[in-house]
Amino acid sequence: MTERDADPPLRLEPADAANDGGAVRRESDPAAQAKVSPMIAQYRDIKAANPGSLLFYRMGDFYELFFEDAEIAAKALGIVLTKRGKHQGDDIPMCGVPVERAQDYLHRLIGLGHRVAVCEQVEDPAEARKRGGKSVVRREVTRLVTPGTITEDSLLEPARANRLLAIARAAQSEGASTYGLAALDISTGEFTVSEASEAALEAEIARIEPAEIVAPDALMDAPGFTRACAAVRAPLTPLGRQSGEGASAERRIREYFGLATLDGLGGLSRAEIAAAAAALFYIDRTQFSARPALGLPTRLGRDAHMAIDAATRVNLELTRTLSGARAGSLIDAIDRTVTAAGGRLLAERLAAPLTGVADIARRQDAIAFFIDEAALRRAARTTLKAAPDLTRALSRLALDRGGPRDLAAVRDGLIAAAALGGALGRASEPPEELRAAGAAAGGVDAAVAARLGEALADSLPLQRRDGGFVRPGFDAGLDESRALRDETRTVVAALQARYCELAETRQLKLKHNNFLGYFLEVPQAQGEKLLRAPFDATFIHRQTMAGAMRFSTADLAELEVRISSAADEALGREQAIFAELAGLVLAREADIRRTAEALATIDVAAGLAELAADADWTRPEVDASLAFAIEAGRHPVVEAALRREGQAFVANDCALSGVTGKGGRIAIVTGPNMAGKSTYLRQNALIAVLAQMGSFVPARRAHIGVVDRLFSRVGAADDLARGRSTFMVEMVETAAILNSAREKSLVILDEIGRGTATFDGLSIAWAVMEHLHEKNRSRALFATHFHELTQLAKRLDRIDNLTVRVTDWNGDVVFLHEIIAGAADQSYGVQVAKLAGLPAPVVARAKHLLAEFEAADRLSRSDRLVADLPLFSAPNAADRVSDPAAPSAPAQARDPLGEALDAIDPDELSPRRAMEELYRLKRIRAGQD
Ligand code: ADP
Ligand code: MG
Repeated sequence: MTERDADPPLRLEPADAANDGGAVRRESDPAAQAKVSPMIAQYRDIKAANPGSLLFYRMGDFYELFFEDAEIAAKALGIVLTKRGKHQGDDIPMCGVPVERAQDYLHRLIGLGHRVAVCEQVEDPAEARKRGGKSVVRREVTRLVTPGTITEDSLLEPARANRLLAIARAAQSEGASTYGLAALDISTGEFTVSEASEAALEAEIARIEPAEIVAPDALMDAPGFTRACAAVRAPLTPLGRQSGEGASAERRIREYFGLATLDGLGGLSRAEIAAAAAALFYIDRTQFSARPALGLPTRLGRDAHMAIDAATRVNLELTRTLSGARAGSLIDAIDRTVTAAGGRLLAERLAAPLTGVADIARRQDAIAFFIDEAALRRAARTTLKAAPDLTRALSRLALDRGGPRDLAAVRDGLIAAAALGGALGRASEPPEELRAAGAAAGGVDAAVAARLGEALADSLPLQRRDGGFVRPGFDAGLDESRALRDETRTVVAALQARYCELAETRQLKLKHNNFLGYFLEVPQAQGEKLLRAPFDATFIHRQTMAGAMRFSTADLAELEVRISSAADEALGREQAIFAELAGLVLAREADIRRTAEALATIDVAAGLAELAADADWTRPEVDASLAFAIEAGRHPVVEAALRREGQAFVANDCALSGVTGKGGRIAIVTGPNMAGKSTYLRQNALIAVLAQMGSFVPARRAHIGVVDRLFSRVGAADDLARGRSTFMVEMVETAAILNSAREKSLVILDEIGRGTATFDGLSIAWAVMEHLHEKNRSRALFATHFHELTQLAKRLDRIDNLTVRVTDWNGDVVFLHEIIAGAADQSYGVQVAKLAGLPAPVVARAKHLLAEFEAADRLSRSDRLVADLPLFSAPNAADRVSDPAAPSAPAQARDPLGEALDAIDPDELSPRRAMEELYRLKRIRAGQD
């Protein structure tokens, strides 16, 4: 518990309560703590009112944590755990973080999924002292910091939305639950609602990628709900009863947005209303009086997006790699945006590919435009680079958490937007998406940016409370108080020189703190001298420190008043100007928000155009058919990785096009390890995702009928963390596919059935293929090491065999990564083992054994046996496929010749009997017997 990090925060001993904020912090008297001290009593009241949160309890320049919180935080942050007095006879564990570094520590605690209640002193310690020596400074929690409700740039990832997700369940009808989902990002104001069935809930949560999930207590023991939440990594916070349903939920939404009715929001369902209200309830609870500027809830149409479940997202590494990093993911490979908001919009589009053909075409048009208009694209990107994160700055200003740099961000964002709006306005015939964005970009009154430009100084402090951000000359009153304040500063310098003379020492310093005001500090030895005549007439002793003494004088006290009033006046004036400027900005909030969205849209279109032009991507043809025809497709991430090593990627075609009503085609891909099977499977799934997010795709040509659901699974993915066996995971995931894939879906199965014994695995894989072909009828790619499965192509008309070309070169296998029609003839496992550096004798022995096993296999198990496996002859007739087109099971033929042969025991036969038997067998063979 006493782990230290490399840089443990500075620790001072705690002051006792009445001295909060004072310069002197001394050890409290343990005896006085025998009973519950007033401070600990206050602490415990506040803690009880904020269950489930770590309490950051403000004491002077520190936030202190006590009891269990201290233990948790000390461990999580690697800071020193100390103790403070006693509570009911036991030491009270304590640790603390300095206020000026609190953000860092908050960041780490939030990252670990904790929630933090920030408790501030809400009165001057002097006020508390007036109430008597034992009084405690009044404190209140002013904010709950939770993973889903943060706004600080230092706590947020620039290119990632930070969403709070509230989930509610509608009253169940006939046992089927419908869930409402409300996702909101208070750092940007984004607020969307949607609805999902229980089966689709997990995929919907995975699309939203929440930082935190909240839901009514009642859902906490609904298995379907908790299972879906477990699939994402976000912490789950239960809400009390008060979150609201029905009429009270509706009222909460109306009141937040000042609406007379919810009718304008596009007919929200009961579940959606309950979820939106729960989200707003939680915002109230965490933000207290502050009110984030949220957009009106936007309803996402059902089936408007390609459904991609959590396992598929992980498996395809859309926004993170399997190890959780962004580098190496698809988003990393395609992100050429130059603004944080553009990065967020791109991620949002990638997470939710569209299903509407016209919407997809609209996005493609914008990219095509920017490919043709290369000069305009470059100019736009240069302008965008200068545009800061408008939305997040705006949100902080609305929460009254903004600083001078947020005002500057609005100024610079609006200037960039005006320039972009102008440039697009001059372009000839921009497509719809860009025309609208251009108009919105220039849509904010130019006076706002102009006023901010006049008011803000060239270099800006981080904090509003420090002042110094208003440009000299902007406000006459401010300039006057500043002059006065600065003049007194020169007075201070002169005074210090004068007191040095009076005290006959050069070691005297004129200093200031909140407790003493202005004072003089001298080393101990000099101090002793000043206590005596004649110096004691001028110097009044105030404090003795270790090695130093502090004095004041009558003049200094007067100076204190003069200086602080001038400085206070200047600061007060600046705060007023800040409030006026923030008010000016917030009055245009809706316009500015639209402008920010427009900038992000332009950034995404220009970025994807840049990518398409650079990496030679093409515009896919997307329609409502069952087409899936890719010519010379590539895997964008693998291709980029190979290019960095100076190697070329081998492009491959993929033809899965089917006919509506009959179903898509299934390709079974066999071939040695390391040949490129998995890469091929994934690249085709990624091309579908890219096409439907409205991007161009890495292929020479692509024609894709809209995919409604995408499934991608890899066999043998260990999931020890969730305590399920590999095989169980595989089967659960496969079951999900077989139960929900449809004709318009795309299914990618990579080595399913690996997690169990060969025959089990083969049988399951076989049956899965049959089901996909006959029932789901999805377009599918299936990579397998079971060569036997290639026999399926002979029996099922929409199954094709593909393999990867390899050549044997002097006994070594050479991978050509080229996908061709046909089945792999051998697995090359031994050759691959040799490539991997297995000792030569082991390789030679393995080769020998393989030859023997293969010979034995041909005699016993044999491909013939597998090829004869009857289709759909499972004993359970209810499961039998009734489709008359389905191949029927061949009748098990009788074999009289074999039976006769089996009946003969050669050892028992006389030569004459043997001859007779031989003639009899010939007759049976000729069918005469
Ligand atoms: P498999 O699934 O058949 O074992 P992978 O798809 O994992 O093989 O590919 C193994 C490696 O081969 C990849 O890491 C990649 O470096 C290379 N590779 C795969 N496909 C291609 C390709 N089309 N062109 C070039 N290299 C490829
Ligand atoms: Mg593989």
